Amino acid sequence: MQIKLFNKTRWRLAAWYALVMALILGLCGLVVYQVMIRAYLVSIDLELESVTGTLHSVIEPNLKQPGQIEPVIELVLPNLCITNSGCSNQQIPSHSQQAHNRHGIFSPVYKDKQYYIRFVNTSFKVIAVAGLKSNQLPSTIRTNVWQTLRDAQGNRYSQKSLELHTQDNRTWGYIQVGRSLKELDNRLLALKLTLAFGLPTSIFLVGASSWWLAGLAMRPIDRSYKQMQQFTSDASHELRTPLAAINATVETILDLEYLSEQEARDTLISIRRQNLRLSSLVQDLLLLSRFDQKTQVTDRQQICLNDLINDVMEEFSALASNADLQLSSSLEYSQPLYVLADEDQILRLISNLIANAIKYTQNGGYVNVTLKRSNGDAVIEVKDTGIGIPLAEHVRIFDRFYRVDSNRSRSSGGSGLGLAIAKAIVEAHKGSIEVQSQLGKGSNFIVRLPPVSTDEPLG
Ligand code: ADP
Repeated sequence: MQIKLFNKTRWRLAAWYALVMALILGLCGLVVYQVMIRAYLVSIDLELESVTGTLHSVIEPNLKQPGQIEPVIELVLPNLCITNSGCSNQQIPSHSQQAHNRHGIFSPVYKDKQYYIRFVNTSFKVIAVAGLKSNQLPSTIRTNVWQTLRDAQGNRYSQKSLELHTQDNRTWGYIQVGRSLKELDNRLLALKLTLAFGLPTSIFLVGASSWWLAGLAMRPIDRSYKQMQQFTSDASHELRTPLAAINATVETILDLEYLSEQEARDTLISIRRQNLRLSSLVQDLLLLSRFDQKTQVTDRQQICLNDLINDVMEEFSALASNADLQLSSSLEYSQPLYVLADEDQILRLISNLIANAIKYTQNGGYVNVTLKRSNGDAVIEVKDTGIGIPLAEHVRIFDRFYRVDSNRSRSSGGSGLGLAIAKAIVEAHKGSIEVQSQLGKGSNFIVRLPPVSTDEPLG
């Protein structure tokens, strides 16, 4: 069920990501395409304008009669084909090569064969053509300044027209300079093909990588979901044990025909014990949940760790002597050490650590509590000579309900929440907790808390 839900979410995330990326990439492709067309057209127009302008200024001062081809035109455009004259002069004569050198405007016309130059009379009839062969040219003769034309084969041309005047300022006709857009169209086709194949390929790659990324992003969610499931099952298990015990006790008593006062008292004591266990478990769970939601009210004040530790030591001295253990403290810091903290919570923290040390140390062992100052922090160490914790378990013992040896821990009344609560308290006080332990040799729990002042209490 969970795997199905996660896979579905993963697919959805990947699909959305791929869709958004496809839109972005498509938009970018479109922009690039438009920018390229624009840039190319602008460069062609500039080129055309320059060729037309130069030809216009070379030819116009020499025009005498409207529509009459003057020798200067043939001179500057050596392959000029005059309509009705058979177009015999297709070779470039040497003197026109000199003109070419002088004006420097014919190289595109003659070399690349991309240009045509047409002369149109005032009745809009073509009277002479140079450059591209005349049968390739569009037949429509219009004289708009800028036009895009298409020939019989579908090739496109960009054309610029300028009016020509005779020396006595009569309209001679028009000069039209056109350039083939074949190269542009070929490039655009190549770009279109690249986009047509490139876009789906990159969208596929984006899809694949987003599938992988979605998996990566969902890993912590998956982990916390599993932890939550584990926590629910552990909590239910822990709550079920005392409930089952109460139930069994009640059932047994109900089966009895007669119940003496002593039996009734013993039963109630047993039920009370299980009840206490239940309520302490529920309280611990509530406390942890408040820490999780950061709603645990903390009453921060300056507390003297030396005094606090002495109080806890006193509380546990009876328990330690019952367990035949030596409980001692060495408060290395000669001056009192203050922290800004919630007294009840710090009390709970130190108590949990000392209770564990007593619980997991065999008779005749030692438990020592140290208070010192190290690297500016107030450091509390609870050290024992007990059973120790295997290295592999060090990271897990702070997890909720985690026990190294669950049978032993449960039989001694442990719920597996003590260290989780200790860690939550330390973190709420911006401190840290770590364990150093060796199996069979003992453990040392080290708590670091930021101190308020080195010696004197503030305020
Ligand atoms: P519990 O209530 O079971 O003691 P804790 O959260 O306090 O739960 O501790 C988690 C586990 O860490 C314990 O079950 C025990 O296995 C291990 N542990 C904690 N403190 C000590 C210690 N001082 N020595 C050895 N093992 C310890």
